[in-house]
Amino acid sequence: MNRLTLDDLPLRDDLRGEHPYGAPQLDVPVQLNVNENPYAPGDAVVDDIAKAVADAARTLNRYPDREALALRADLAAYLNGDGGVGLGVENVWAANGSNEIMQQLLQAFGGPGRTAVSFAPTYSMYPEYARDTHTSWVVGRRADDFSIDRAEALRVIAEHRPSVILLASPNNPTGTALPLADIEAIAEASTGVVVIDEAYGEFRRAGTPSALSLLPAHPRLVVTRTMSKAFALAGGRLGYLAADPAVVDAVRIVRLPYHLSAVTQAAARAALAHASSLLAAVDELRAERDRTVAWLRSIGLQACDSDANFVLFGRLPDRHAVWQGLLDRGVLIRETGPDGWLRVSIGTPDEMAAFRTALLDVTGMEEPA
Ligand code: PMP
Repeated sequence: MNRLTLDDLPLRDDLRGEHPYGAPQLDVPVQLNVNENPYAPGDAVVDDIAKAVADAARTLNRYPDREALALRADLAAYLNGDGGVGLGVENVWAANGSNEIMQQLLQAFGGPGRTAVSFAPTYSMYPEYARDTHTSWVVGRRADDFSIDRAEALRVIAEHRPSVILLASPNNPTGTALPLADIEAIAEASTGVVVIDEAYGEFRRAGTPSALSLLPAHPRLVVTRTMSKAFALAGGRLGYLAADPAVVDAVRIVRLPYHLSAVTQAAARAALAHASSLLAAVDELRAERDRTVAWLRSIGLQACDSDANFVLFGRLPDRHAVWQGLLDRGVLIRETGPDGWLRVSIGTPDEMAAFRTALLDVTGMEEPA
């Protein structure tokens, strides 16, 4: 039988020539390319997740709680301990990864004749959410230090009047967190929803605030989080948002019924109950991140200050050759960001030692004596 190609199908015109999003999933010893948490959940967490999932399995003939009320209450309580102010179940919404949260936000607030705005370099999925929801996509530039140039941001907002503004803080791939004053200025200048993507929020350095504290004063502000990074639950697929209850009501209109499986809800609640032990590993990763920034600078490279679990470094005359050289030595990092830069996720001390050895070998650079 002849196999079809995409050309044989009535694919939407704007999807022709497009490819599925995603970094290569290669089987190499040291995987530092998709900002995962390198520490697998410990035995106590695994046991509780397994038990919660077994309990859920006994009721899998029934649809799950469509509103995920117990999980949302747990998430609200967690956020109130990390910068949230008086958040309750009505302020929180959950979905399969913050990717799905973002897609739902664009489905509810974007659409034909509407515009979404962000500032690059930033997370490369944002334009795809816009494309998939027929939302016009406008991207301004970040400043040379990858902060947001407030005047430029206000100019872009005034010109395009976006219904959605997407700002990652800490930003991927640069690690840059936004000062609250910049977020407030943008929220005040905009009539749309302003989404602060805090996927890496728990990795922020001491003194870097979360935008959660701004929610009471800015009702069209939305803060998104994920359990994929700090909670070491990337495989569990659980992202969430905190916002005014009206925002939650809006995304509830576009969500698919029963979008969050009973298994997902049970696993996420079990992991959340172990927040303090899971977040202990975050402190180790933050320290390893700061050591990595210092080391990259010590060998003569530039490294961005990072509030996340990765570091953007450069500038390399041929970044692809360095990326490939590392891969040849069993270390997979990410070729992303502006030309000349590469991004390394923070792994275990052993993985970072392998990265350092491979990078010195590939570049011929030397550690200071
Ligand atoms: N936002 C940012 C900035 C990210 O880097 C990522 C993952 N790489 C996500 C959102 C999505 O994460 P998830 O869907 O696993 O929650």
